[in-house]
Amino acid sequence: MGARKRDSDRRIGRRALLIGGAAAAAGSAVLARDELARLYWRLPGVRRPRVEGAVDFRGARWVSASEANFRWADRPDDYGIDMIVVHVTQGGLDSAVKAFQDPGHQAAAHYIVGQDGRVTQMIRELDVAYHAGNRGYNERSVGIEHEGFVDRPEDFTDAMYAASARLAAGICRRYGIPVDREHIVGHVEVPGTDHTDPGELWDWDRYMKLVAAAHTASA
Ligand SMILES: [Zn+2]
Repeated sequence: MGARKRDSDRRIGRRALLIGGAAAAAGSAVLARDELARLYWRLPGVRRPRVEGAVDFRGARWVSASEANFRWADRPDDYGIDMIVVHVTQGGLDSAVKAFQDPGHQAAAHYIVGQDGRVTQMIRELDVAYHAGNRGYNERSVGIEHEGFVDRPEDFTDAMYAASARLAAGICRRYGIPVDREHIVGHVEVPGTDHTDPGELWDWDRYMKLVAAAHTASA
């Protein structure tokens, strides 16, 4: 950790020197170009370049969903993100992963949290996942699936709650989403849905306390 810190300090120092040099050489032309680039990426329908295999949550395993189950996008620049939708898979982790890889499934979430607390990311947060069954909610939210069945509370393990709470807290932190039940909702609460997950046995009080604690810890 100490070595990494020193490395990053050195990098920042070198970068500051480069930026300083470039600004001195090119002056406002550099800033104008950056501004143009920023505006360009705000256009709808733009697919932001991304690094294959990159994840938004540190330590997540990357498994790509089928392109049929999400829409390439450039959030939060084209669509703001102000919600998290909580799901339960109604099955095991492997079958959920297979379903999201299946172009015929027509649905997938950004994340699946396993009962062992392992996080699998299948769609980047910048893209619009088809998980909520409501176009507007898909465009404004990040979907988190949890491995298990709604009628089996023992499926909702300590490790799962803890990992999901860290994940949700990071999403709230990244996009400035308030940690409350207006912005962290169950699939059942999405208008027009016929889904009931995460079900009545999902412990919202416990979950929201864990998200709030992780959010505070990350401040
Ligand atoms: Zn759902």
